[in-house]
Formats: sequence, structure tokens, C-alpha cells
Amino acid sequence: MAAAPALFADECVMGLPNLSESDAAKVDLENVLMRFSAGIAEICLRRRIPFCIKSPWSSRIWMTKQFQSLQKSSHVHFGYTDFCGDGTLWRKRTGLLHGFVDLGSCCKRCNTRGGICSFSGKRHAQQMGQCQGVFLTRAAEPYPQKLCRRVAKAFVASVLSRWCSNLWERLS
Ligand SMILES: [Zn+2]
Repeated sequence: MAAAPALFADECVMGLPNLSESDAAKVDLENVLMRFSAGIAEICLRRRIPFCIKSPWSSRIWMTKQFQSLQKSSHVHFGYTDFCGDGTLWRKRTGLLHGFVDLGSCCKRCNTRGGICSFSGKRHAQQMGQCQGVFLTRAAEPYPQKLCRRVAKAFVASVLSRWCSNLWERLS
């Protein structure tokens, strides 16, 4: 099976030139979604609403001027978590750009040495090929449930903290 052609490069984060019509349409859609996500984050920043955007750590979305601009805000934090910290066979480093919510304690970082996972002590599985008819890249897509719970708790804590703060202001 032939590899899909590259649509982006570090020096062309908005898409490579001279793409086929169908690939150009894919790039356009990706860019619309990227701008939409950045726009939502900007609204959240203006209104002080907790938000989080995730994408693979290696994603070029982080290199776009929209996301570079977001990271200049003192309210925006950018970190990563490794899925293996939540029990997956693969590391799958995932970037989390967030504001008005503290996700620092949600992130688990693998100190890989020689390809050996610092959480499991085993070699990370590669997200290549298929297992039981399922592409491993697809199998690795869902977020680990434990990570989802930590993120959800962090959002609840953030909203409750803000709510209590507002209530205290009204009472005092
Ligand atoms: Zn690991």
C-alpha cells in the first residue's frame, strides 16, 4: 500500500503548493478547521472561558501563525502528555494548548530511554501497520479514559473556582 502524499511541510504549514484538486480540498478543510479552533480559543481568551485544544505534539498546527499568536498570551499554556502514562502500548505524545484551566497535573510525561517506556518498562509499540484488521494509527486515536477524567475534573475545578470567586465578590 502506497503512503499518502504529504500535504504540509514545516516551511509550508498552510499546505504545499501544486497539490492535486482533491488534496488541495483536504488542505483547505484542515485550514478552515484550524482557523475555527483558533477563533474559538480567541473568544474564550477574551471572555475568560476555560478551553483546551489538543493535537499530536508533532502537528504543524502549533507552527501556524494563528496558534503561535495564541501562545503569546500570558493566559495560554502549552504542554504535552504521553498516552503511555495512561496505560497504552504506544507513547503518542499529544499537545494540549489551554487557558483558564490548570491542566499541568493532567499531563504524564514518559522519560523514554532507548525506546523503553518509563511507565511500563517495555518498548513502545509503533503505530504502524495493522492489528486484527485495524490500522494502529486508528486504534491509537481515542483518548485514554483516565486522561479524559483528569481533564474533565480540571475543567470542573476551574468552573467551580470561578463560580465561588464570583459568589464571594457578590457577598463581600
Ligand atoms: Zn512511555
